[in-house]
Amino acid sequence: MTAILEARNISKQFGGGLFQPPPLQALSQFSMRIETDPPSITAVVGESGSGKTTLAQILLGVLPPSTGDLLYYGNPVAELSKNEHWRFLRDVQMILQDPYESYNPFYRVDHILRVGVRRFGIANNRAEEQKVIEEALEAVGLRPEETLGRYPHQLSGGQRQRVMVARALAVRPKVIIADEPVSMVDASLRATILDSLQTLTRDYGVSVIYITHDLTTAYQIGDNVLVMYRGIVAEAGDAELVVPDPIHPYTQLLVGSIPRPDPRKPWLEEQQPSEIGRNADPNKGCKFADRCPHAMEICLEEQPPSYQVDAHRVAACYLYRDSAQTEATDFSDVFVEPKVKQASEAV
Ligand code: SF4
Repeated sequence: MTAILEARNISKQFGGGLFQPPPLQALSQFSMRIETDPPSITAVVGESGSGKTTLAQILLGVLPPSTGDLLYYGNPVAELSKNEHWRFLRDVQMILQDPYESYNPFYRVDHILRVGVRRFGIANNRAEEQKVIEEALEAVGLRPEETLGRYPHQLSGGQRQRVMVARALAVRPKVIIADEPVSMVDASLRATILDSLQTLTRDYGVSVIYITHDLTTAYQIGDNVLVMYRGIVAEAGDAELVVPDPIHPYTQLLVGSIPRPDPRKPWLEEQQPSEIGRNADPNKGCKFADRCPHAMEICLEEQPPSYQVDAHRVAACYLYRDSAQTEATDFSDVFVEPKVKQASEAV
């Protein structure tokens, strides 16, 4: 089946030109397919500088890749006709990290919701428009009578972020890219926002790409997880494998840094790089070699390919070089079918 959205061998480099800073490779040979039948939640996890925000901008079509293609139903986004591009803009929506910056403080919530509905011709008249807006608010757990007519500053941070989810949903998208949607709200409100994202997938058939630095929330809602490090995918596959039992040294480091409620299980200390890793050239070999406690001579030569370590997981690491190299670089071979999860359940 043709994917609604596909990143094919995308790389992005910043700088490196005449009078520019040295080149920065933000994304290297990245591929991914987003289907909507069935809809799914794919979590993209990485620390700052991993390339995940660059990826979000490329998937939205607002940042052109240096090489590779972004395809919408198999056609390069850069070559879409005016009508196709209009449909792409409606089908692929974004939820931003900062609900405070997403609003014009002079407009009521009604206006924020109405703009997209009108722009994409979702309703035929005012009554229909109102119905679409109210349904979108109810879908994310907000009461229209308590939300409409208010200014953003009259809502809590969690309500503001859920209004942004409703705004995206109101235009009937097929894919939503959510870039750190819970990083600026209180921990107590995170579950309600994650729940509303799951509602989009479960009840409205919307596939979600959930971008985060936080493995815990990625595990809570993701069917599959991609762990990114300096522009490459370090480990990918079933969230139920990758987070509870990581195999790539970088994912192990991320999981080890998750705070544990049990005082008998303190944070794991970051292991020191191996003697060989300390000599790693940052521009050659495995990108994690200078931090990796397991770095070997082979790691200093070339970036490892992705090895399929088990049925639903790949890792770009020479520790697994006895496994077969993965055939589908877009991870379609290893990703699992979506399953129903409850974000409100503790990890
Ligand atoms: Fe560590 Fe080598 Fe694996 Fe890179 S390829 S993560 S340096 S063991």
